Amino acid sequence: MSEKLIPDWLEKPTDVNALAPNLWPQHFKRDSTGEVSIAGVAVDSLATEFGTPLFVIDEDDFRSRATFVKKAFEAAAAEIGTEAKVYYASKVFLNTEIASWVNDLGLNIDVATGGELAVALAAGVPAERIGLHGNNKSLYEIGRAVTAGVGAIVIDSEIEIERIASAAGAQDKVQPVRLRVNTGVHAHTHEFLATAREDQKFGIALADVPALVAKIRSHSHLRFLGLHSHIGSQIFKADAFEEAADRLIEVHAQLLAAGDVPELNLGGGFGINYTPADRAPVVADFARLLAAAVAKACKKQGIKAPKLAFEPGRVIAGPTTVTLYTVGTIKDVQITEGSIPAVRKYVSVDGGMSDNLRTALYQADYTAIVASRHSDAAPVVSRVVGKHCESGDIVVRDSYLPSDIGATDILAVAATGAYCYSLASNYNFVTRPPVVAVRNGKARLLVRGETEADLFSRDVKYQQELQQNGKAKS
Ligand SMILES: *Cc1c(COP(=O)(O)O)cnc(C)c1O
Repeated sequence: MSEKLIPDWLEKPTDVNALAPNLWPQHFKRDSTGEVSIAGVAVDSLATEFGTPLFVIDEDDFRSRATFVKKAFEAAAAEIGTEAKVYYASKVFLNTEIASWVNDLGLNIDVATGGELAVALAAGVPAERIGLHGNNKSLYEIGRAVTAGVGAIVIDSEIEIERIASAAGAQDKVQPVRLRVNTGVHAHTHEFLATAREDQKFGIALADVPALVAKIRSHSHLRFLGLHSHIGSQIFKADAFEEAADRLIEVHAQLLAAGDVPELNLGGGFGINYTPADRAPVVADFARLLAAAVAKACKKQGIKAPKLAFEPGRVIAGPTTVTLYTVGTIKDVQITEGSIPAVRKYVSVDGGMSDNLRTALYQADYTAIVASRHSDAAPVVSRVVGKHCESGDIVVRDSYLPSDIGATDILAVAATGAYCYSLASNYNFVTRPPVVAVRNGKARLLVRGETEADLFSRDVKYQQELQQNGKAKS
């Protein structure tokens, strides 16, 4: 079977220098010389100062998106007579600087492990504004969260009820908890991104909820906040959320008969654009549809709308960041499309699946442009690949790039702020890239790039020999 040269959604651009209006960070511009700058810093100078690959965050875009998303959910909740808490799903993109931005902007933070919890706490996020979820929290992670006094722990399985109760009991604290529910609603997204089908690891079946909530309520060291649902990620349509809300509120109403259920957490999963063809809904529209679905379901059950919580990640961080790469080798590869000979230009860059795993993991689509100069050449079908020893090491599967693309050109890949840095690895012993924030014409390093010394830092034999040699010298 020969591969299709281009997918149906990919249109040939009339101008290969044009920036699709739905894709790039707010302060991403191509100037009259043809070079791109981000918040006033030219990509060439970023590449020279920090090297490539490089994650570049448009800081003001990040801040305004975080605020916009927070306000969107708060306004939608207010419209149905309740309130909303917005948690930044930190696994999407996290360091202490980002955590402090979202904290300063009044968002709460959602963490999934002890490591993410440590970063949020180190950034100065007040513990009561932190939520901890995860399907297999260790006793250490639970203990640490209880000690810190996190605002909510999301219980993911029955066994965690006892574990959290005993950690809270040992410290004579009352720990607020939510219960994650698998609503069985199948969100229309990649299989690995759908988290509420029956046959997956997260949450409790709806039918088991009443018994487990009774158990939670029987513990004096636990306080039940309400149900939690996260149906998946990169979702474009509200219908699955609406269905999930309907099913949750039916059970929520039953639970009210035996006690307080102050909140309902509907998770995250709001989709973003990765290609010029994508049309992700504006998050404010999503928020309004969701709130309306909650209001309708509450009316059906004859209950007051609970306080709502949301956990957006991708929709905040994703569009704010680009990855810059330097082009290395280029090959025109002959392929056959149907029975017709065709050519695909393979453009190799200095990173790959170690800084963007999503293309390999989810068949995710991305968009690349030449950012360091203007080109008058015709657009040609191209594939941007990395430097790793895997044929699946693809950064951008399908894109048009100028036919005169060459070594030392700088490529920018759009919307890499979500699940790229956080999924980065040292595969093939490459060093993970730095993260830079740009704002008002200035670039600031948030996370330095790794060095060869970092790659050896946990190699015991190497470190022992280094120490011995050091001693021998002194
Ligand atoms: C990953 C995750 C999120 C965020 O998902 P996005 O698609 O990035 O919005 C929210 N809640 C939970 C429980 C998650 O696991």
